[in-house]
Amino acid sequence: MKISEIYKKDKRSLSFEIFPPKKDSELENIDETLKVLCELSPDYISVTFGAGGSSNSNKTIEIAKNIKKNYGVEPVVHLTSLHYDKSEIDSFAEAMSSAGIENILALRGDRSPSIQEKSDFHHASDLVEYLKSKYDFCVLGACYPECHPESEDKISDLRGLKAKVNAGAEVLISQLFFENDKFYDLSEHCKIAGINVPVIPGIMPVINAAQIRRMLSLCNASFPARFQRIIQRYENNPQALFDAGMSYALSQVIDLIADGIPGIHLYTMNNPVVARRICDGIRNIV
Ligand code: FAD
Repeated sequence: MKISEIYKKDKRSLSFEIFPPKKDSELENIDETLKVLCELSPDYISVTFGAGGSSNSNKTIEIAKNIKKNYGVEPVVHLTSLHYDKSEIDSFAEAMSSAGIENILALRGDRSPSIQEKSDFHHASDLVEYLKSKYDFCVLGACYPECHPESEDKISDLRGLKAKVNAGAEVLISQLFFENDKFYDLSEHCKIAGINVPVIPGIMPVINAAQIRRMLSLCNASFPARFQRIIQRYENNPQALFDAGMSYALSQVIDLIADGIPGIHLYTMNNPVVARRICDGIRNIV
């Protein structure tokens, strides 16, 4: 099923993101994770893709196939384009088509000094346009409540987003954020700019200290004082940090639902306990 269909019904979506385990030897563990995640009845599960062939990206399609075939849940395959030419993208697209995969999150991918960039796709919008011109996928795109780090300002960020939607992106999934107002601002700016596709907030519960350090180095997200206090106080107390991080994420999710957002996308970090805690916390929240 194309996941754009979900948003035509008057129903809030629930989706999870997982990543292929780094080592082949850990691939079996993904079934343990999927078993629990799928019991929570998500509308779809997205599987990340290591830009330029890093991080076991060759396993992305295999895992997506497994999700569809063995768990009956719709997969969304992340696909990056900066390090591929058209013929390589065709190989991925054909493998997905023959596996019955109908949904692609089309991305540019991060720049990496160690992986050579190719010249067919400069922006995600180029990939969206190419996929839409040749294949019958539902194509999703990424968006950034606090601007993509390479964007000069909010206006140029929004221009890039509009180009992606004009090229055919039917749903947008957001980068993680810790201040809901940043997401609400983006949603409003999208409406003003005539971007009328569902914009789904991506939420990542922060549950351990190493993860926080990685977040700080990788993404643009600002850390509100309320959130910083939790980290400072519980950084060396893993159980307390887990509980506090989960409660913080849950409070974000409840506020977003109360605002009427079309869905929640949870960055699960392959930790099904995280997904279960959030789902338990919103069981009666409509
Ligand atoms: P773009 O949309 O191309 O944006 C990049 C920059 O170019 C922005 O500054 C934008 O404003 C500008 N821009 C965009 N279009 C145009 C245009 N037509 N003209 C001029 N400027 C333009 N990375 C991975 O490697 N693997 C993953 O699986 C993965 N999953 C992700 C999932 C989500 C939900 C998100 C939010 C990000 C994910 N990423 C992933 C990270 C992503 O690859 C990086 O953030 C990357 O730097 C940008 O990708 P993009 O698709 O947003 O790029």
